[in-house]
Amino acid sequence: DLGWDEEVDVLVVGSGAGGLTAAVAAADAHGSVLVIEKSGEYGGTSATSGGGIWIPNSPLGREQGLEDSEEEAFSYLRPQSAPNVPDGVIRAYIRRAPEMLGWLHEKTPVRFTSVPYPDYHVEYPGGKQGFRTHLPVPFDGRQLGADILHLRAPSPAASLFGIINWRFDETYTLLFRPKGWQKALGKMFWRYGSDLPHRFRSIKDRHLTLGNALVGGLRLALKERGVPLRLNTGLVELVREGDMVTGAVVEQKGKRRRIRARRGLVLAAGGFERNAELRRKHLPGSADPTISGSQINNMGDTIVAAEKVGAALRNMHSTWSAPVFRVPGEERARLSTIERALPGCIIVNQAGKRYMNEAASYHVVGRQILENDRPGAGTQPSWVIFDATFRHKYPMGPLLPLIPDALQPKGVRKIMRKADSIEALARQIGMSADALAATVTRFNADAERGVDTEFDRGGPAYDKMYGDARVQPNPTLAPIVKAPFYAFPIYGGDIGTNGGVVTDEDARVLDEGGRPIGGLYAVGNNAASVMGESYPGAGVTLGPAMAFGYVAGRHAMGVN
Ligand code: FAD
Repeated sequence: DLGWDEEVDVLVVGSGAGGLTAAVAAADAHGSVLVIEKSGEYGGTSATSGGGIWIPNSPLGREQGLEDSEEEAFSYLRPQSAPNVPDGVIRAYIRRAPEMLGWLHEKTPVRFTSVPYPDYHVEYPGGKQGFRTHLPVPFDGRQLGADILHLRAPSPAASLFGIINWRFDETYTLLFRPKGWQKALGKMFWRYGSDLPHRFRSIKDRHLTLGNALVGGLRLALKERGVPLRLNTGLVELVREGDMVTGAVVEQKGKRRRIRARRGLVLAAGGFERNAELRRKHLPGSADPTISGSQINNMGDTIVAAEKVGAALRNMHSTWSAPVFRVPGEERARLSTIERALPGCIIVNQAGKRYMNEAASYHVVGRQILENDRPGAGTQPSWVIFDATFRHKYPMGPLLPLIPDALQPKGVRKIMRKADSIEALARQIGMSADALAATVTRFNADAERGVDTEFDRGGPAYDKMYGDARVQPNPTLAPIVKAPFYAFPIYGGDIGTNGGVVTDEDARVLDEGGRPIGGLYAVGNNAASVMGESYPGAGVTLGPAMAFGYVAGRHAMGVN
């Protein structure tokens, strides 16, 4: 007798989108399920995300007119994913992900809508102009009752002043301020303020959008099935008996408990991006966890625990890379998705030179920052340079347009540089004034003509996604001419790690010999990604987390 304190069919570790989907799927297959979550809030980084999922060849995409097939999706993914990811796992993703999405719509309150968001590499064989990315439809958080109070808050970039949640289309309204934008903004304030009497109880916005809408919907699906989600309960150790994992030791408010998982244990505790020691051991670049945009609880506990019971690990040196802003005093970095593609800004290294297409996807730009870091031309940090016209029109990281510099938070003012000439700006940063002036002069000449002769910014289809369509012929280019000039440090960081435990097409954890460890599954950033080290489109982290969560939950209960 191993002295179990508690028994369930399926134990799910971690309450991000991967874990919650696994739990709902297992419950639908008639399992008794328990979700444990280390922190006092559920939702993980998933709750703070855009909530987008990249799922090719789906009925939702077809409704929007997309022509797609399993073969096209495979020819797009196969060369991008790492050679050490088997064909079978990629094919499993392509087949099971649309199935998961159909099931989600049929059985749960979660709803997605396909968006015209281009694949990150439309120009590759099998790439598509849009509708493989799907975004969560806003969710009415009132349905969660008191449970909404423990839902992890959205990231500052997914909400106005970090409080009022916005929808994807509202982002555009506020970004480009077309006619009537003030009314749209007024509506957002009204929607927030008029939620009485909740407004007197909590600052939490119950109109859930993006990642919060996704996690809110999944949380309701759990409630409807009576599945408990236990907060402040972290996995410490896995219990292996023979060739099976049969349960886990968890720590709940300082006390250890042993929980038996009769049918399966799903590891869904995210990556190790917030663990300085593991970062130092495995990742290139900074070991400082605040360079990650992920929330602070993803320490890789379950990757270490799985390795101890014989799990194989893969691609541990890899992250979902991203350029990030770091505001002093904030515990997590801010992902830069949009602003780099807007016309009138450039990114330069510490020698004052551009070194990449700034408008490429965040993964590509993040990698470029890491790979170009050299003595004498450092890129950690690099500097994003923009002028007064840009400042007035668009946001730049934490800096919002129309809000005067003097009213910016102290941390933001601390890192911002501002000067009346490009040369003076360069001197403030501590870089060569001549070099920066030459870079800006060359860029401006290109921008006037709308062709980036150095790095083809605005050439690839993806670049235009976040450009300003009113600026032609190239929506990502405008000269940097009007004083005062601004600079902000920007770093090569990440939004999570994507190496981890090796899994097969059923999300089962494999040992070094490629044999499944009975009863043990891993999904999301806890597992080595089906995407290898690549980032083929918006939603390639959450799509697989949820698809393999669905597969794991069902497989554990003996349903295919
Ligand atoms: P998480 O959602 O992080 O969940 C892991 C959970 O496990 C956490 O709640 C954690 O507290 C818990 N945990 C950790 N250790 C333990 C333990 N020992 N015991 C129990 N619980 C534990 N990706 C996309 O695909 N689409 C997007 O639109 C998108 N937008 C993003 C926007 C931002 C600003 C950021 C930062 C990221 C974005 N991402 C996006 C990336 C995405 O959010 C993550 O890759 C994804 O959420 C990972 O999901 P997960 O379920 O693996 O982990």
